Amino acid sequence: MANHLVSFYVNNYKFFISIRNHFKLDKITRLSLLRIKKLLSKNKYLRNHLKKKYGKIEILYPEGCSLIDEKIIIDILKTYSNRKVKLSIIGGISGSVPTSIIINSGTQKKRYFIFNQKISGVNFDTNRPLRKFLYNKLINNYKKILEMEFNEIVKFLKTKESINFFLRYGNKSIKIYNINKCPNCFSKNTIKLFHSEGNTIQGFLPSSNSLYNLCRECELVFSNKQVSKENLKIYYQNFAYERKKSTKNHMKLLKNLNEYNTSHFSNYLHSAKKIKRSKSILDLGSGNGEFVSLARKINKNTKISALDWFMPKNLKSALKSLNIIPYTSQISIESLRKLNLNKFDLITMWEVIEHFKIDDLKKILIYIKTLMTDNGFLILSTPDFDDPHCKSLDFWSMAAGEHLSVFNENSIKNILNNTGYYVKNIEKESVTIKKANAWYDYGLKTNSSLAGRGSAQMIEQILKNKKLREKYKYISRKNKIGSEMIIVAGKQT
Ligand SMILES: [Zn+2]
Repeated sequence: MANHLVSFYVNNYKFFISIRNHFKLDKITRLSLLRIKKLLSKNKYLRNHLKKKYGKIEILYPEGCSLIDEKIIIDILKTYSNRKVKLSIIGGISGSVPTSIIINSGTQKKRYFIFNQKISGVNFDTNRPLRKFLYNKLINNYKKILEMEFNEIVKFLKTKESINFFLRYGNKSIKIYNINKCPNCFSKNTIKLFHSEGNTIQGFLPSSNSLYNLCRECELVFSNKQVSKENLKIYYQNFAYERKKSTKNHMKLLKNLNEYNTSHFSNYLHSAKKIKRSKSILDLGSGNGEFVSLARKINKNTKISALDWFMPKNLKSALKSLNIIPYTSQISIESLRKLNLNKFDLITMWEVIEHFKIDDLKKILIYIKTLMTDNGFLILSTPDFDDPHCKSLDFWSMAAGEHLSVFNENSIKNILNNTGYYVKNIEKESVTIKKANAWYDYGLKTNSSLAGRGSAQMIEQILKNKKLREKYKYISRKNKIGSEMIIVAGKQT
C-alpha cells in the first residue's frame, strides 16, 4: 500500500486512508475520502481521545464506498489507539457496515459488531452503475451531504424529501404521486408494508419508510409512491438495462444461454411444451432476446416475433440471423395496432406485468386477446408476494419504483378473470436460488440483522453444493415454491 490517497493528522496521531484497487478510483470515491478526512480531523471526541498519543493508523476500505461512517473509525481507535494500526475493512456495506475488520495484516482478524446505526434496508455501495448514478445525483443536488456527520445523513435519508428524490432518480421536476387507494379494486382498505433488512436496487431507501401498500380486498401489493406513466422511462436507462452490445456479442450470448448467465432461464423452460406446439410466438418485452432465442432452439419451424420498446440495431441483426422478427414498439394498444400483427398461438410476457400501471395492464390484457388464436395461450411470469423465497431477502420490494405491483395468485387471477382469461395453471421458479455467490451471498454480506445474515449464510451453504442445490431446486419446483409465478392463461369463451 504505497500510495495513500488521503493523509492527515489529528493532534500527533497520523491517519492514512486508501481504497482497495484505487487505480480505479473515481471522483465519487475521492470525495468520500475527503469527507471522512474532514470529519475525523474536526471530531471533538477523537481530538480529546488522541491527546498525548503518538501513533499511526492506515485504513484500507473496500471499493464502492460512498458515505463512510466515521464512527466506525472512532470506535476502533478507542481500543487500538495505543499502537500502530493497520486496518482493513472487509465486506458488508461499503463504508458503513463491515462484516469484519483485519487488524495489522491478519495477525488479528476480528468480526466487527456495529453499534446501532439506526438505519436498515439500505446499501451505500456505489459499485453498481445505478447506485453510482443516484449517489452522484445526490451529492450534486445536496452538496451539504459531504460535510454532514453520518448520523445526520441517516436522518436525512429517512425524510420524505430524500425518499422522493431517489424514487424520481434525482430528477426534481418529476412529481411523485402518493397512492393509498388500491389501483385495481379501488378499495381504501389497504395497509402500509415495509421492507426489513434486505435492500432495494436503488440502495438509498431505508426500511423505516413504506414503499408499498397491500390491498386487503383484492390482495394486490402496489407501489404507494409512483411517477406518472410518461415519466416511467426514467427507470429504463442503459445503465440499468444494458442492451448496447456488438452483434457478435449478442449472438455469443444468445447461442450459449444457460441457467447461470440468464436470470430467468428456468422460468422459460416451463413454456417448452407450449413452444413445441405453437406455429407462431410473440414475446412482449423481449429485452436482450433471451427467451425468443431459446424458443428458436426448442422449435426450429415456428414463426417467432420479439417486441420491445428499445432495440438497438445490433440486437435486431442478431435476432434476424436467428430467424426471429424484431419489432421496436411500446407495449401499448396504440403502438401494437400500428404493427398490423397476425394472430399468435403463444404470447409471452416474462417479468413485464409488474412494471405496468394497473389500468394500463388491464387494457393491454384485453387487447392481447385479439392477437391470440382461439386456442392460444398467454404466459406471464412475475414475482409472487406470498412466496417464502419472495419474502426472503425482501426480494418482493427490491425493484421499488420500477415494480409498480407485486401480485400473488389471488390478485393475478382476479385481474386475468376480469379481463377475459382463465388461468390454466401456475408453476413456480426461483431466480434467487439458481446459483451460489449470487443472492444469498449478497444477503449474508448486506442484510441488516444478525438473524437475516445467519439465514442467508445457511441457504448459501446449500447453494454452494451443486448436488444439494439441484435437489433443493427440484423439491421447490415440485412443491410449487419459488419467487416467481409462471402463469399459463387461455381466453375465456
Ligand atoms: Zn384491491
